[in-house]
Amino acid sequence: MQRWCVLGIVGLVSGSIALPGWAQATLQSWRYDPQWQRLQFQTDQPTQPQVQVVQQQRLVIDLPATRWPYPQNEQSFGTATVRVAQYQPDVTRLVVALPHVISTDQVQLQSQGNGWIVAWSAPPAVRTVLLAAQRQGRGILLRLSGPTVVGRVTRSHDRQWLYVDLPNTAVSVGFQDQTRPYNLRVETGNSGHVRLVLEVSSNDPDWQLFATPQGLLLQPPPKPAPAPVTSRPSRTTSPAPPLPRPRYVVFLDPGHGGSDPGAIGRGGIREKDIVLDISRRVARLLNAQGIRTVVSRHRDVDLDLAPRVALAERVNATVFVSIHANALHLSRPEVNGVETYYYQTGRWLARSIHKNVLKTTRASDRGVRRARFYVLRRSSMRATLVEVGYVTGAEDAPRLASAAYRQKVAEGIAQGIIRYLDNLARQ
Ligand SMILES: [Zn+2]
Repeated sequence: MQRWCVLGIVGLVSGSIALPGWAQATLQSWRYDPQWQRLQFQTDQPTQPQVQVVQQQRLVIDLPATRWPYPQNEQSFGTATVRVAQYQPDVTRLVVALPHVISTDQVQLQSQGNGWIVAWSAPPAVRTVLLAAQRQGRGILLRLSGPTVVGRVTRSHDRQWLYVDLPNTAVSVGFQDQTRPYNLRVETGNSGHVRLVLEVSSNDPDWQLFATPQGLLLQPPPKPAPAPVTSRPSRTTSPAPPLPRPRYVVFLDPGHGGSDPGAIGRGGIREKDIVLDISRRVARLLNAQGIRTVVSRHRDVDLDLAPRVALAERVNATVFVSIHANALHLSRPEVNGVETYYYQTGRWLARSIHKNVLKTTRASDRGVRRARFYVLRRSSMRATLVEVGYVTGAEDAPRLASAAYRQKVAEGIAQGIIRYLDNLARQ
């Protein structure tokens, strides 16, 4: 876990760039040692570091009259990051962002030739780091570094969320979530514990946590017939579907997300939130019918259009259903209603969804239309885009803001998809 950052070309660079007269020293190299909780660095001339703790979790080391001849540099080491920059023309600053709170009296500064060691002690509790969550078989592998922790699995009252609590654990800054199509959320507690929140089907039995050499494996108890990897079917208690639909994969694509809120409407309602919620509800309804679903984004994250299509292709989706909400100017409150789009092959899918959404919501019918939207043009499967209503509409906005109404929209979309797939199965 040690990493040297040696700058072998310092001589070359200082030869070609004029040194400002006031900076006498150059920071030549630095090394962060996460195991011993210390930072070492070397300058070519003596310097007098000034160490301070900022906002309880940042160790700031200023090197007066010292140059850093490179652009700002930031590196991650497990749960900590180190940033080096020319803070002022004559001050080089090293900042260590820590995953825990420290105080100045925990920090020691030692000189070593032209080098220095800044050492600090960490609270002993947090020693385990969550590095990644990866899909493995039907379960999720939690990769950890440090001592193995004993996690606890609990369930929400509505049984739709599984909680995994890991004591004395921090989340790595480079944490990787490779659990798609599962919907996993990581929450950090303030007392050095991590909670993983996983969306499950309410019919799913409780998942269990097993210690393996690779990490903690979270998985459902063994079933007689293993389910396909990308699905969370729950056929055990739901009534048998009228027709077998095992080969179908429904790709749901809530539009926008992250820095792109989509349309913003009356009362500040945001398209990205509304469509994410509706997509989750549709996925739940389809899963309850034993239909495999994959969702392009499970969270409020940025996602370009191309990766949405690429993911749908990768999972070999049968249908692509993009979910959006419409908008006009706020001075047009009279425009309300549902519009559904297709490009080439998605016409019947679009009609089926459109018809069923109108049935469950009794919203205004603004028609099924053809349009050259990217996700419709670029996906090879039958694709449709539903505009579930106008966030700027006087009728639609308050309805879309209500969870009960979004459930109706979701029921319509799910019904439309199911009808469409049943027709496919009959062919
Ligand atoms: Zn949109």
